[in-house]
Amino acid sequence: AKKEGDSSYRFFDSGDATFISEKLQLENGLYKALQEHHFSLHYQPKVYAATGELCGIEALIRWQHPELGMIPPDKFIPLAEESGFILEIDRYVFREACRQNKAWQDAGYKPIPVSINISARHFYQGDLKAMIIEVLNDTGLSPQYVSLEITEGVFMRQSDHVIETIVYLRGLGIQISIDDFGTGFSSLNQLQWLPISDVKLDRSFIRGIASDDKKSSIVKAIIELVHSMNMKVVAEGVETVEESQYCKLLKCDELQGYLFSKPLAAADLEKKFLPIKL
Ligand code: C2E
Ligand code: CA
Ligand code: CA
Ligand code: CA
Repeated sequence: AKKEGDSSYRFFDSGDATFISEKLQLENGLYKALQEHHFSLHYQPKVYAATGELCGIEALIRWQHPELGMIPPDKFIPLAEESGFILEIDRYVFREACRQNKAWQDAGYKPIPVSINISARHFYQGDLKAMIIEVLNDTGLSPQYVSLEITEGVFMRQSDHVIETIVYLRGLGIQISIDDFGTGFSSLNQLQWLPISDVKLDRSFIRGIASDDKKSSIVKAIIELVHSMNMKVVAEGVETVEESQYCKLLKCDELQGYLFSKPLAAADLEKKFLPIKL
């Protein structure tokens, strides 16, 4: 059973006691989950639009709770963002993804980049650069096989620190992607002076694109603009053959989505997708 912790005062934060207690239970559970190794990573393939060949993988966290079962990241990532625990989660995910990728390389698989989601909060709090350097040193993974996915939220505040951090990471050889592009507050205008490698078009732009003229002309314009700024475009959440063909037609560079694969446990990704080096 759960101990009545020192955070029980938070029950009075809001009116809905049921919601609060579930939230509190999850929030308190995060620390324990990390300690007791209940987090793991799944990996979703990304393919070149032109050839269908594997071009990268995205690491996505999973929480296997001993009593509550699998808790989806959409349920606990926002809580972790709120409480600040996201910094610990980012560190775990980054370390485990780098470790696994290096292990695959050491086993003889052809090296591919791994994409890791980094919270916007990490750009304002904690030392992102130090964390990354430490983990790259410890795992021995070359920075060219690391890509960081950041959301437009990172640019909410106009900050020299953010720009300096991105320029530094890029200087190490790490790729930077803008995740969920088009859903938040930022303009391509703002991104054009930053060394961004690619923009991931949110699934809301891709869903049903083949039969929606308005959507497809918006996406076409975004893609042309992104290309003119020398960045690549990744389509997220590609579920159907029609969506995939349409993204190819509009010159998306890379595709990701259930059509190719759901996120897989490391062993399954290895078996199904990793090409052996000759
Ligand atoms: P995201 O970074 O945009 O990740 C893509 C999400 O879309 C993943 O959900 C993935 O499983 C799902 N997805 C991929 N292809 C398709 C598709 O064809 N159709 C549909 N409907 N969905 C698809 P997931 O793994 O549940 O993660 C949800 C969100 O939670 C992520 O969105 C990300 O914002 C956050 N998240 C997940 N793992 C991490 C992590 O390690 N660190 C951080 N900071 N956030 C994470
Ligand atoms: Ca992502
Ligand atoms: Ca995304
Ligand atoms: Ca998302």
